[in-house]
Amino acid sequence: MSSYLSLLKQYWGYDDFRGIQREIIESIGSGHDTLGLMPTGGGKSITFQVPALAKEGTCVVITPLIALMKDQVENLRRRGIRAAAIYSGLTREEIIITLENCIFGDIRFLYVSPERLSSDLFQTKLRHMKVSFITVDEAHCISQWGYDFRPSYLEIAKIRKMLPGVPVLALTATATPQVVDDIQDRLSFNEKRVFRMSFERKNLAYVVRRSEDKQKELIHILSSLRGSSIVYVRSRRRTKEIADLIQQAGITATFYHAGLDSVEKDKRQKAWQEDQVRVMVATNAFGMGIDKPDVRLVIHIDSPDSVEAYFQEAGRAGRDGQKAYAVLLYNDGDQRKLEKRITDNFPEKDFIREIYEHLAYFYQIGVGSGFGYTFEFNIDKFCHAFHHFPIQVDAALKILTRAGYIEYTEEQDNQARVMFTISRNELYRLENTTPNEEKVITALLRNYGGLFTDYNYIDEAFIASQCGLQTHQLYMILKGLGQRHILHFIPQKKTPYIRYTQRREDKEQILLMPVVYEERKQQFRERIHAMTRYAASDDICRSRYLLRYFGEANDHDCHQCDVCLSHRSEGMVSEPALNEAMSKILELVSDGKPHPITELRDIQLPTAELDAALDYLLKEELIQQEDGSIFG
Ligand SMILES: [Zn+2]
Repeated sequence: MSSYLSLLKQYWGYDDFRGIQREIIESIGSGHDTLGLMPTGGGKSITFQVPALAKEGTCVVITPLIALMKDQVENLRRRGIRAAAIYSGLTREEIIITLENCIFGDIRFLYVSPERLSSDLFQTKLRHMKVSFITVDEAHCISQWGYDFRPSYLEIAKIRKMLPGVPVLALTATATPQVVDDIQDRLSFNEKRVFRMSFERKNLAYVVRRSEDKQKELIHILSSLRGSSIVYVRSRRRTKEIADLIQQAGITATFYHAGLDSVEKDKRQKAWQEDQVRVMVATNAFGMGIDKPDVRLVIHIDSPDSVEAYFQEAGRAGRDGQKAYAVLLYNDGDQRKLEKRITDNFPEKDFIREIYEHLAYFYQIGVGSGFGYTFEFNIDKFCHAFHHFPIQVDAALKILTRAGYIEYTEEQDNQARVMFTISRNELYRLENTTPNEEKVITALLRNYGGLFTDYNYIDEAFIASQCGLQTHQLYMILKGLGQRHILHFIPQKKTPYIRYTQRREDKEQILLMPVVYEERKQQFRERIHAMTRYAASDDICRSRYLLRYFGEANDHDCHQCDVCLSHRSEGMVSEPALNEAMSKILELVSDGKPHPITELRDIQLPTAELDAALDYLLKEELIQQEDGSIFG
């Protein structure tokens, strides 16, 4: 449809759609529930932004990634399109204004984090909104079969019921065939409708490197290849260790994990993004929503828990289409470590019940009470008090959450808040303030309204830069003003919390049904085993293995992974076999006609020999190749 094309041209300046964008747009544009499977970098946002602009009303976009949300809103606003976002951290007032604007104003896109969907405020306002369609980003999060299930996604089904006749567009960059089905069921699709783009990454060479000394191997790889790189490790502590190691080898590196404050995260990400440092050493917290096209190398020192996670992380290399590498370092010890993750993530049921009971002791909640109570949760304190290990406690709390007894939220990111405790007049009469304190007070008053009546979330980095201060200086100044009772300052903090979603039960009454325990454990085990098979096998092309895992049939090897390359060199060793393969191919094309390359499969010889022969003949220009056919 030309109107989609003219919108694309008008707002984005592109001349045409890429890949399956047009098919998805036409499908959702004509009101069909639609699932789009596109690898990261496939141009996902165009597929909902263009059809939404062609329709009246607001497109509600559900996504769990707050950073990405803010980026997209800014991006749309720069193009002159009205967009807004609701996420935890906004004040109630801000949320009301935003929602009212959606009802009465001309907001075309409303981004919402899934946790917000269940709030009464949101649901009440939603009923009065004219919604064009619902977009569900990272749609695999709705599937309990998926590797990244988020209970808050189940709310989307309820939202759908509230908006009869409003179609839904689900998007994901990773889903096995089972998850593809499940997403459509959970979102109550009127009919199944899936569009998929190939997940093949032709410029990306997957490599598994067996190594007993991973650190040495890491330095070796980083020294022999060039370009921007990411190194993934599993623990926060190791990010620093490995970054130090890389720097000692004379290569610039920095590190990143979820425990750093946001200013530090931004700083490091920027330094890497702008190539001031070459290597980013990170946990899996790094990468979502980061768009650096020229990453040449992604190395995993530790294996992820699933092929899905590996594929996503490895896929951050080579977005620009230039040659790139994804290397997994692996040794026999890893197999055991991966197996151990199964028992770590699914401790014995009795242990889980014990944790439930200890939690009640910890907060002093009697049997029958506690419903609706919310507590901050300090896992170290808890483990110290009851002699437990954090990994198992964390796993037990997650299972109790799934079973519906509690809600355990890790790392709720609470922005810093400020409220003045003296009146405006008293503030003007203040004496003995330093120039920096005055600067801070002025900046606060200029940027935030209502500071005398209510707490306001403040952006510390922004205020600091306005005052020409470092953030830690700003922190000290705000703390000082707090001590002098001029204002209340609640510093930013990351607090996990626990909420009782049911009255406290006796531990014997705790039910852990197969759907929250045995079945999930089995799924987890299968995912771990798929990952170990990937790492341990040396007889199937890595790219082929990954594509097959995602249900994509493909009939060719990649010719660049370690498996393909080792087979080729094995083939090279035997001259007679190579000669035989070459003469068979030459015989095939001797009629002077083009032959589809798939005809090679009819020749009864090992693939490795045929591949090597074909490569040789093409290189020596004894045969030619065009459009998937070869000719003499
Ligand atoms: Zn291969």
